[in-house]
Amino acid sequence: MSVSFHLCQPGRGASCGACCGLYNFRDHSRERLTERLGLQTDTFRALPPERETWHATAVSLLEARRAGPPLFPAVRVCPLLGFLDAERTRVGCLGHPKVTGGQDLRDCGVYHAELCETFTCPSFTWLTDAQARLVQAACADWYLYGLVITDVEFVRGCLRLLEWEQAGPVDLEALVGNPEALAAMRRLFALKETAPDRGTHAAVFGRFTPDAEGEPVSRVLDYTVLGARTAPEDDVVLCLGYAPDTRAELERARRLVREHVTVVAQALTSPAP
Ligand code: SF4
Ligand code: SF4
Repeated sequence: MSVSFHLCQPGRGASCGACCGLYNFRDHSRERLTERLGLQTDTFRALPPERETWHATAVSLLEARRAGPPLFPAVRVCPLLGFLDAERTRVGCLGHPKVTGGQDLRDCGVYHAELCETFTCPSFTWLTDAQARLVQAACADWYLYGLVITDVEFVRGCLRLLEWEQAGPVDLEALVGNPEALAAMRRLFALKETAPDRGTHAAVFGRFTPDAEGEPVSRVLDYTVLGARTAPEDDVVLCLGYAPDTRAELERARRLVREHVTVVAQALTSPAP
């Protein structure tokens, strides 16, 4: 299993900057990240493509950010991430030679340019082409695409629930080609952004929370404390960032997921108009 096309900039509205630290903040809302990327874009786009100037500017942006540390301190946040197009619909590296007009300024960020050039995240290995194409088609915007394409357990968990609902394998190509089902799939994936009542008390990013060293570690549900048994929806519930304190909260989150999966399944099985 592995993806045969480039997940970072696959086109058709999808682009990702997750490994450059895009979401590594407690408040990783679309509004706040749009502001942050806008500031970084305006700052670097105004500079001449000179290494010393870019490096000094990157350092000053990192200094200014000390007041609001990353959610996972062990994971770096690069100030060279920004919007690549005038409409601000595509996220990517402002220091890439294709963006600067020839100069490779990625060494001015938080990693060496060689690492930026060669890095591929686990999604390249763990997603199939068909799964990645589905995410690309369903999440055609920079904010949602990055959240979903990097969460293999979430994508697999959603598709597993859909298979159970259908009592059989899901034809992902047919799903992409069915506008009603694809829109419902987008709403399911978009729960990453829209799911209500996830609380703000815990340092949580999807399934993860920081350990003592600031590294992301996978969370689990404490079924004994919740007085509940496991349920098929729980992987997706965790990936959505729910940290339920009570069984009622857990049941609400499960119901939300189940309802969204059912709508996709219904759209797939209802006769074409
Ligand atoms: S997290 Fe993965 S898909 Fe996203 S930019 Fe990095 S390597 Fe590409
Ligand atoms: S310099 Fe590297 S880490 Fe920074 S935005 Fe560019 S690709 Fe990402």
